[in-house]
Amino acid sequence: VEEILKPFRLSNENLKEISKRLLKAMEEGLRNKTVGSDHPSIRPSVKMLSSHLKERPNGTENGGFLALDMGGTKLRAYYVEVMNGKIKLEPKSKEWTIPQELKNESGTQLFDYIVKNLGAFVETLKLEGNPKLPLGFSFSFPCDHKSLYKCFLTKWTKGFKCSGVERKDVAKLLREAIGRKGGLNIHPIVMVNDVVATMMSCEDENCQIGMIIGTGTNACYMEEMKNVGTEDGEEGQLCINTEWGGFGDDDSLKDFLTEFDKNLDNESDNPGEHIVEKMISGKYLGEIVWRVLLELKEKKLLFEGSVSDNLRKKDTFETRFISEIEENSEKNGLENADKILSDLDLKVNSTDPSLVKMVCDTISSRSARLCAAALVTIANRIRTNRGLPHLKITVGMDGTVYKKHPNFSEKLKEALRTLSPECDINIKVVDDASGKGAALVAAVAQRLCGQ
Ligand code: BGC
Ligand code: MG
Repeated sequence: VEEILKPFRLSNENLKEISKRLLKAMEEGLRNKTVGSDHPSIRPSVKMLSSHLKERPNGTENGGFLALDMGGTKLRAYYVEVMNGKIKLEPKSKEWTIPQELKNESGTQLFDYIVKNLGAFVETLKLEGNPKLPLGFSFSFPCDHKSLYKCFLTKWTKGFKCSGVERKDVAKLLREAIGRKGGLNIHPIVMVNDVVATMMSCEDENCQIGMIIGTGTNACYMEEMKNVGTEDGEEGQLCINTEWGGFGDDDSLKDFLTEFDKNLDNESDNPGEHIVEKMISGKYLGEIVWRVLLELKEKKLLFEGSVSDNLRKKDTFETRFISEIEENSEKNGLENADKILSDLDLKVNSTDPSLVKMVCDTISSRSARLCAAALVTIANRIRTNRGLPHLKITVGMDGTVYKKHPNFSEKLKEALRTLSPECDINIKVVDDASGKGAALVAAVAQRLCGQ
């Protein structure tokens, strides 16, 4: 078992090497204006996209804002009241699970679905006289932003395949769907990536990094304008959406990939793309464990060497099982493992649950440690940008893997402490971060327009 799990165990030295390569990829992304290019050899793996966001709220933003958060799994609508640059009360909100079939339908169907739900939500708000509502749209996919109001989806990730959306302006597609429905007075639409929204939602002056470890993974941070080769202007700072999920797409992680990672990638919806995301995020963790379990079964180390019809199917070992199996109190986790495996009709003997737990721990630890390496890379980038020997910084964090797994956050923080004594990295989780942050970005945009 140890032989099979060994390639997943990344030492501190490995993580330092990975961090070095990530920094190099980030620098390439900042330098090159190749966004949107389909040619792999000139496309930087870590895209370092401009969010067009240079400011946080300054305390003068006021009004009611709609927000939409389209993630990899859920769609959420919010109504957020902003007073003096801060969110007043808990926002009103509603959530829907995006139907799996819709991910393969046309873009028109996807956006009609979004607007149908948004319309129903606006109705429940019972606002007098159909007032004009600005909307912040947190869109959890990589986009090439031309401005806060115009952004082109570069590539679907996380299993979405809706036609007619890639390379299109997402704000326009939403606006057209709002037009098709009629009766909604929504304007303007302000676009923001979910990780940027997450950073913005964190009401902490030291918050200069955002991170998501959910269905997908991403990070953003405040970069000095003078270092951004892809944007004009030298003054001030700009929030860069790193799209670090694409790290490794240029083979720079080749020597750290296991056979399981390679097979998962080959059989995925987007082979060769978002390599590090496939080692980390919730869409894939369950599948990695599943692949390892099948291999252990093959070697007759689990389930008495036999497998059930259930376990033959991809996607039966859900990522949430990992959290349940790693449940903190030793006994609970093992009992959960026993139940989950029996429910999959497997022949479970007395040692199988603890072996499966060991597999889960190995896979989730690798994920947490890779995320720590990314955070350390970004924090040190900010530290050297400012010429500081020591940096105290806050990260706005969101995502089901980070929030739901019983000890993911501990594993991540432990790695942070060993990897970067120069940075004091404080992680802050905000509820409904994407929705709140998108509303705040819409509020800042309104101030900047002087409306
Ligand atoms: C997307 C990012 C997004 C992240 C987290 C990734 O798959 O490319 O744009 O921020 O998932 O939702
Ligand atoms: Mg999300």
